[in-house]
Amino acid sequence: MITLVIHGGAGNITPAMMNSEQEREYDNGLNAALDKGYEILKQGGSSVDAVVAAITELENNPIFNAGRGSVFTKKGLHEMDAALMNGKTLEAGAVAGVRNIKNPITLAREVMLHSGHVFLSGSGAAEFALSRGIEQAKDDYFFNKQRYEQWAKIRDSDFTQLDHEGDNLKGPAAANPDYKFGTVGAVACDEHGNIAGGTSTGGMTNKRFGRIGDSPVIGAGTYANNNTCAISCTGHGEFFLRAVVAYDVSCLMEYKGLSLKEACDVVIKDKLVRMGGEGGLIAVNAKGEHNFCFNSAGMYRGMRNSEGQQEIAYYK
Ligand code: ASP
Repeated sequence: MITLVIHGGAGNITPAMMNSEQEREYDNGLNAALDKGYEILKQGGSSVDAVVAAITELENNPIFNAGRGSVFTKKGLHEMDAALMNGKTLEAGAVAGVRNIKNPITLAREVMLHSGHVFLSGSGAAEFALSRGIEQAKDDYFFNKQRYEQWAKIRDSDFTQLDHEGDNLKGPAAANPDYKFGTVGAVACDEHGNIAGGTSTGGMTNKRFGRIGDSPVIGAGTYANNNTCAISCTGHGEFFLRAVVAYDVSCLMEYKGLSLKEACDVVIKDKLVRMGGEGGLIAVNAKGEHNFCFNSAGMYRGMRNSEGQQEIAYYK
């Protein structure tokens, strides 16, 4: 079975915080990404290519916190993280703290295929991007009024904020419940039973200069292995890093024989909750079975498979 699963962030996403126009925008954004990625799978393309295509579409849409819609750091800049992993070969590529890259996920793929390394950061990643002819974009491409206002409310505090949370926070960020945009990710299973996963993000609003979240860290926010699962996470990165979420799900399947759903539930709904970590993940295995799992109020999510199943959902 071929399957594509995507997310646009998890967090404080409730019906009370969304109007029908916003829901339509998210429907359109998620559907456009599913169209792009699924078309590749349908034509016999690889899960890696489908993941990159879906994430690129989400990065180009300013309603999501990745690429164009990335949030502001404490210094008022955009620093983006992204990762990609091939579950067949266990090859991986990741970038952290990159600026002015139009599509960080394509740079992650370039690192995977052409750098001889797995993980590049900051100015080294920028230099590599230039040498590979990766498309750049000026600062104003990433400017977004809502994101700016979201940041302006907490810039003078020490708070960081998931860009889609609000009233569950204490302090100045609590005054800002209206923003519910998100990190993006995709996992896919192609017709050969090869799986892949990728994640791309602007991180957390008001994050410290140089802060790296879970998204680009292989095993924390992103992982793929044909023997177990492909995972892309979203949520409060510091907790996902410490819980090594994506690889933990894979390990529970590999070493304890848990099913995809059981493994996701243990990590997201038990371990993370006990640590105080909010968020969720999307997962797929090499049979094309998928799972959405989150401990927050909602997660922007969607899927399509060759058995005619399709879904777009936001709330619990
Ligand atoms: N996990 C991301 C980070 O901490 C944020 C998110 O998922 O929205 O950078």
